[in-house]
Amino acid sequence: MSENSQPLELGQALEALQRRIVAVSATETLPLSQAVNRVTAAPVQSPVDIPPFPASAMDGYAVRQEDWAARPADPFRVIGHSLAGHPFSGTIGRQEAVRVFTGAVVPDTSCQVLLQEDVLSADEHEVTFKTHTPGELFVRPPGHDFRAGQTIIGSNRCLTPLMLGALSAAGIPDVSVYVRPRVGVFSTGDELVDPTVNPADLEPGQIYDSNRFTVLSILADSPIEPVDLGRLPDDETKVRQAIEAAARDHDVLLTSGGVSVGDADFITSVIRELGKLEFWKLNLKPGKPLAYGTVGKCHVFGLPGNPVSTIVTLLMIAKPALYHLAGADMQEPLRIKATTADRIPHSPGRTEYQRGTLKRVNGMLSVTHTGDQSSNRLSTFVDSNCLIEIPGQTGDVEGGQEVLVLPLSELLS
Ligand code: AMP
Ligand code: MG
Repeated sequence: MSENSQPLELGQALEALQRRIVAVSATETLPLSQAVNRVTAAPVQSPVDIPPFPASAMDGYAVRQEDWAARPADPFRVIGHSLAGHPFSGTIGRQEAVRVFTGAVVPDTSCQVLLQEDVLSADEHEVTFKTHTPGELFVRPPGHDFRAGQTIIGSNRCLTPLMLGALSAAGIPDVSVYVRPRVGVFSTGDELVDPTVNPADLEPGQIYDSNRFTVLSILADSPIEPVDLGRLPDDETKVRQAIEAAARDHDVLLTSGGVSVGDADFITSVIRELGKLEFWKLNLKPGKPLAYGTVGKCHVFGLPGNPVSTIVTLLMIAKPALYHLAGADMQEPLRIKATTADRIPHSPGRTEYQRGTLKRVNGMLSVTHTGDQSSNRLSTFVDSNCLIEIPGQTGDVEGGQEVLVLPLSELLS
């Protein structure tokens, strides 16, 4: 890859990163309680059939299928009961029944369960059922959920709570996962102060730092380890020293701000001096000045400073790249068709991601943009639940036209 003279399209940047970034290889074994959001380093197989025995799916009575088929109207002799965790130990004979409850062992694989609701009359010794045709057996055979040896989860999957549920159901106490890459997060700019500063104490020209908190929060529940590296001043020497030092003990650095062409924008020149600037500038709105390069083995993403641009480039580019580095399969984000509720202004040129609100109206998905889309306006994100993708070549999108939207819940997960 060599530094681009033409701005890259989003897809080109993602492809370049996928080629350039080699996933981590070190692994560790973690108990399930610590494994959420980690990436599997090997396929995980079920050691046993789950359920391990024929289990009743309902409360009722287990009887032999052949008896029910031959003499459904005759009474059955109740010879015992089987509760979850307390199986019936005998065998079930002709025209006999065992009272069973959901999840309990069904005494024999040739049994079916007749439902509690279909009992005509019953006492301790005898039960008679309504004689309608039985549809289901209501018995879950061994391996009904997972068979012994079956792969429950493949490798390179980011573990969700639902996957962890499946692993624990199969009696798997721990899992081999990739170690988390360390990702240092800086913000840059002399104008920035911490949100703890009282508004009355703001000096002229100061604003609150939001990017670092947004970036760290977006990456908090993920297969990488975010590290807060604080704020850098607009001083080239200090930026160089900080990046040089941090690149030694982080796998990735994410900076925000200082990647445009202003007098105080040093990120790209520092990457060039210390390592290699691989690409700079995308055909994207917001997020045009995104820079990516390497310093030694460390990947450095110079995210743009405007807060909306920081978020869009993090979600659309840096985050997929970080997941790839963490060992997870790179996935295309979900795109859904929706109809625009009103006109969306867009000048042809760059692919644009506007913040939108997606709703169901009369059974149809309808999307509205969230007002003035200037890249400083975090207010455009507050009530939005999706990004509206407007292809580069498109002009204004009229109301009632179809667009693709990317749910933010997906991009943030
Ligand atoms: P820059 O590219 O550094 O000129 O930043 C572009 C715009 O984003 C400027 O208005 C900055 O004040 C603003 N900005 C940069 N970093 C942050 C940050 N961490 N939080 C909020 N705004 C920022
Ligand atoms: Mg700046």
